[in-house]
Amino acid sequence: MNEKDWQEADLIFDIDAKDLNLSCRSNHTISICNQCNEITKNNNQCTKCNSSKLEKKSLPCKTCIDASKVEVQKLIDILINDLGIEKENIQTYFSGNEGFHVYVFNSQFQKLGSKERSELVDYIMFRGAIPETFGMKKFKPNRSSFPDFNQKGWNGRFSKQVFGSKSKRSKIISELLENGYSLFQKTLENISEQIGVKIDPNVTMDIHRIFRLPGSINSKSGLTKLLCDDIIKFDPYNDACFLNDEPIQVLANCPVEFKLKNKKFGPFLNEKVTIPTYAAAYLICKKLATIA
Ligand SMILES: [Zn+2]
Ligand SMILES: [Zn+2]
Repeated sequence: MNEKDWQEADLIFDIDAKDLNLSCRSNHTISICNQCNEITKNNNQCTKCNSSKLEKKSLPCKTCIDASKVEVQKLIDILINDLGIEKENIQTYFSGNEGFHVYVFNSQFQKLGSKERSELVDYIMFRGAIPETFGMKKFKPNRSSFPDFNQKGWNGRFSKQVFGSKSKRSKIISELLENGYSLFQKTLENISEQIGVKIDPNVTMDIHRIFRLPGSINSKSGLTKLLCDDIIKFDPYNDACFLNDEPIQVLANCPVEFKLKNKKFGPFLNEKVTIPTYAAAYLICKKLATIA
């Protein structure tokens, strides 16, 4: 057993719709009461027994999936252009539920430990950036040390976000200088929300995690974890839905409408319905239906 030392691990990122804090989320989140099993649209308290022990299930909408794809693209841009990873060594998978797993193979980061990976995470999420890196100083800040629009890495991304356009750069630098150091620090924190990539830090830092095998069915959705060749075109509710369409009768309680294989289903209000196997599996995995 002593010889079973940790050798290395692929660098892996998890992007999940639940971490994006989108406003649409409450529209398609369902609360299941742990005490009495009452199912309602997003609630903090059970409407039947007042319990606050609720399990949340989300049926991510197209906006959620599209926003996750944007994060994947932001991440891949940083991996290639900032960290020098070869495009061929990056693979993106639909996780089978609410997001994407991005794998980096054969990179110089393969042997990095958890602590070093957490620093990579900070860089990618744009966390803990200091004003000095972006030209601001506590004493006698200098106009010329602020980043330029076309610079690489975070300097360029900062410029595009804060200046908006090349022509506004000078005016905004004057404002930043006037506002001073501590407000600049606040600005950095605020834009970190917008330009930082929303990855799950714990997943990347965990060097022992075993990931779901591509091709396997995710028990949280009945959808399949799948390699995405073209993330823009990829539609999980069509491309990762492999179960058949044989009709099945279920007792469904799903107050939210959902779409699979280009067909709309629901809302179902605690009723017996006959729906294709793939839709039944989706609901059963979300704990919103049982075999009738
Ligand atoms: Zn209840
Ligand atoms: Zn949504």
